Amino acid sequence: MAQLSPLLKQATPVLAERGEGVYLYGADGRRYLDFTAGIGVTNTGHCHPRVVEAAQKQVATLIHGQYTTVMHRPLLRLVEALGDVLPDGLDSLFFLNSGSEAVEASIRLARHATGRQNIVVFHGSFHGRTMGAAALTTAGTKFRAGIGPLMPGAAVAPFPQAYRYGWDEDEATRFALRELDYVLATSSPASDTAAFVVEPVLGEGGYIPAPPAFLEGLRERADRHGILLVVDEVQTGFGRTGRFWGHEHSAARPDVLITAKGLASGFPLSAIAAPAALMEKARPGSQGGTYGGNAVACAAALATLEVIRDEGLVENAAVLGARLNEGLRKVAADHPEIGDVRGLGLMQASEFTGPDGEPDAAAAQRAHRAAAEQGLLLLTCGAFGNVVRMIPPLVVDASQIDDALALWSDAVAAAVAAAVG
Ligand code: PMP
Repeated sequence: MAQLSPLLKQATPVLAERGEGVYLYGADGRRYLDFTAGIGVTNTGHCHPRVVEAAQKQVATLIHGQYTTVMHRPLLRLVEALGDVLPDGLDSLFFLNSGSEAVEASIRLARHATGRQNIVVFHGSFHGRTMGAAALTTAGTKFRAGIGPLMPGAAVAPFPQAYRYGWDEDEATRFALRELDYVLATSSPASDTAAFVVEPVLGEGGYIPAPPAFLEGLRERADRHGILLVVDEVQTGFGRTGRFWGHEHSAARPDVLITAKGLASGFPLSAIAAPAALMEKARPGSQGGTYGGNAVACAAALATLEVIRDEGLVENAAVLGARLNEGLRKVAADHPEIGDVRGLGLMQASEFTGPDGEPDAAAAQRAHRAAAEQGLLLLTCGAFGNVVRMIPPLVVDASQIDDALALWSDAVAAAVAAAVG
């Protein structure tokens, strides 16, 4: 009998039998508050009835009609609906299956469109595990070590990590932009640089929001040097941060937007969006894949967009995100092990540090495990693994936020006691 790969390191012992809204029901008979949302995917909650109905109908109508060969209606309807929510001018879409593939597509597009090779990313970036995307990923050695040689042409500049530097946001931003100018004058000359690829909130890198002035500084430099600004909204899109797109917390607008995760409530679907005049610079045949733009995934995505609009999920993320942040700060005030609490909307995190201010991954792991034991599913992140993040479905309500905070408070207390004992 076959067995699961020994590489599988499951973060919690939960065997999920069923999901509904913000809850997962385990084979152990327990109900779990799921503040992982399938790693930021099920924004509409598990098995939202409208998403389920749309997918079921589509399964019985047309499961697959590879859209670069034979067009289908779910994809055309989705393109129209996305037109209402995408930034002005990003009127052309290309569909794939995963975030990583969409990142790969954006690399190809940027290189074709500019004739330049280099891509600049920022410390703590996570853009995926395929070989090109891995070269753009700096959120931890485990994503890159031993798989090289990686794609050449990736350069790294600092991300304004104010807490880590012990600076305020303005100082951190000034430093990061000055260092970027240095990179553009040295290791990745501006005239060789095709794109900046940036997350509006560092995701796997520790839930660090980009200061608006940083994104605006990138935009200004992109315009000055003819570089494309590619914004990776894989984790921050679809209302997650309390605005429809994460970059909307700043005045900067992207040339290329990458989206996946929340797009289809759990069906594999991703996309890149760009102005048509830019998109047509990708050479025919260079982009795509067999399953990209799958009809069932597109039907689910359309229903997802309708649910986000009809249920006011973007506003909910803003209001309940503020409540979650406030509650996390209260827990942190009782526990010096938590050095920082931060996030945007329903993308919130607590960073564990030792007395010397250095990252304490073991403390974060203990709190994460204790939370799961209490019935609250969370994720860790951060280049040093010392950040515990909360990313609940956007259909969460105030009492569920409060339940999670009570469980979190108990979990941190239990984790601290375990460390002492
Ligand atoms: N970009 C970002 C910002 C992400 O958070 C992720 C996934 N965590 C990816 C890209 C890669 O997406 P996928 O796992 O779907 O390939």
